[in-house]
Amino acid sequence: MSFRHVILDRDGVLNHEAPDGSYVREPAEFRWLPGALEGLALLRSAGVRLSVTTNQAGVGRGLMSLQQLAAVHERMQTEAAAHGGALDAVLYCPHTPEEQCSCRKPAPELIQAAVARSGIAASDSIVVGDDRRDLEAAERAGVKAVLVRTGKGRRTEALLGNAAVPAYDDLPALARAILSARLDTDGGPKVNESQEQDAS
Ligand SMILES: [Mg+2]
Ligand SMILES: [Zn+2]
Repeated sequence: MSFRHVILDRDGVLNHEAPDGSYVREPAEFRWLPGALEGLALLRSAGVRLSVTTNQAGVGRGLMSLQQLAAVHERMQTEAAAHGGALDAVLYCPHTPEEQCSCRKPAPELIQAAVARSGIAASDSIVVGDDRRDLEAAERAGVKAVLVRTGKGRRTEALLGNAAVPAYDDLPALARAILSARLDTDGGPKVNESQEQDAS
């Protein structure tokens, strides 16, 4: 669990998802999940690089403009930085599934781009998501992945059943696990917080 680059999904990991079929279209609609800002700051304080990769099909559907998406991300980045968790990169796919682009998760391109931009090896990176698409994109990009039980995370964990990847209650719980592993001179995985880990 000693990772130098965390590649985060946005909706359901950092902020409350919009209701099904709708999108976070304006900065005022972007609402952080409890503890998410603190989780980012913890990782950042440990020197972990932070990237965000997000599907935003609302743009392709004409429900929001690229300018609106940029404004949402500007708020997200400003607030993250103000709390000590500045984001290094925010990568998005604006396309609809029907466009069959190469960047919409579960395609691996956003994850690959985040890895390439970071200069940090894929093996030192981890994808954090709440949806199967995040996990599949990570797998196809050759990057390990974990689930958080926010957003669609609990549902995804149940769907995966025995194929489940490690899961944490939320981003701050994951951040604490990554940091405690880094501080552990043995360097091995540390999974003794049972409420945060049930991959066994
Ligand atoms: Mg999500
Ligand atoms: Zn795309």
